[in-house]
Amino acid sequence: MENVKDCLSKLKAKGFKLTPQRLAVIEHLEGNSSHPSASDLFEEVKKKYPMISFATVYNTLRILGEVQEIKQLTIGSDKVNFDPNTEQHDHFFCRECGKIMDVFRKDNPEVKEINGHCVHECQIYFYGICSECLKASQKEE
Ligand SMILES: [Zn+2]
Ligand SMILES: [Zn+2]
Repeated sequence: MENVKDCLSKLKAKGFKLTPQRLAVIEHLEGNSSHPSASDLFEEVKKKYPMISFATVYNTLRILGEVQEIKQLTIGSDKVNFDPNTEQHDHFFCRECGKIMDVFRKDNPEVKEINGHCVHECQIYFYGICSECLKASQKEE
C-alpha cells in the first residue's frame, strides 16, 4: 500500500464499495509496520468504530489482498499477519515477545529461477530472539 488514495481508487475500479468501516480498516493499515493479525486490527478499529464486525475487518483484508495492496504472512504459529508494505523484504519473528519485525538482507539477490521453476517472489522468515529482548535478558544477568 503506497498510499490510501491509490489504494481506494484501485478498490473503486474493481467495484468494491467503500464503506466508512472499510475505510477505517484501510486507515489503520497505512504505514502500519506492526504486522497486525485480523483480530489485532479488529480490536484497534473497534475503539473508533464500536459497531464494526470482525467479518467486515476480515473481508476488507481479503479484498485488499485481492488487489495486492497487502501481503499475508504466515510467520506466526497460529494466525495470519498482514503487511501493508508490499515491497520486497523479509521478516523476523521474536520467540520471546512475539513481535514481527521487518528485516532487510544486504545480500538480497533477486532470484528469477530456481531448479527450473520461475520465481515471482521470495519470503524468508527468520526466528529467534530480537535485539530488545536480548538486551533485556543481559540486564537481568
Ligand atoms: Zn523480542
Ligand atoms: Zn513487513
